[in-house]
Amino acid sequence: MTTCSACGEPAKLTPREVFVLVGGELVPARVCAACEARAIRIVAVSTSRETGAILVPTRTVVEDLMANIAMVPDYAVTKIELVADIHAQAVTRAYEHGVTIAMGTDILLTGPDLPNTWGTNGAEPGHLVKLGLSPLEAIEAATATAPLTLGPQAPRSGQLAEGYDADVITLDADPVADIGVLADPDRITAVWTRGRKVKGAAA
Ligand SMILES: [Zn+2]
Repeated sequence: MTTCSACGEPAKLTPREVFVLVGGELVPARVCAACEARAIRIVAVSTSRETGAILVPTRTVVEDLMANIAMVPDYAVTKIELVADIHAQAVTRAYEHGVTIAMGTDILLTGPDLPNTWGTNGAEPGHLVKLGLSPLEAIEAATATAPLTLGPQAPRSGQLAEGYDADVITLDADPVADIGVLADPDRITAVWTRGRKVKGAAA
């Protein structure tokens, strides 16, 4: 066991060389995984604001892995337990510092009986609200901001406007009042994709 150059604790060090600030000088060093994650999060927040980068937190995959930890292989349990809190703090920090946030999920699986499966994407806005966004900001991350991460691949997405694809859902409740309704497919009363209705009663 060696000693982390940043926190001074005995720890397994990551394979990467990083730079730590010692007496105002950046000195190459090796650090523990927790210090490395903390350093990345601090650097990432400042560079995101400078460059206009968009943060896609994909909190769903973290929450779903934590909620189904018995199904997760040991190596991944170790990793998820290490990063779950740091990830949550990083998203909150980025939000508080004005970094643009878009919704994504990193959903892995397909099948109605499985966790972290397609169709449960609507849980992500609720996770973002728990990390600090208002319900309307979380909805904006999912609708207006998410297409910006695709640039020219989604030229007609992200606005309810003439000339844009009519990708629209309707609900039986107000998600601004209760963001959790987006997580329940039964509350989604209709879905249109490019103007064509694919869920809900015929008009
Ligand atoms: Zn450390």
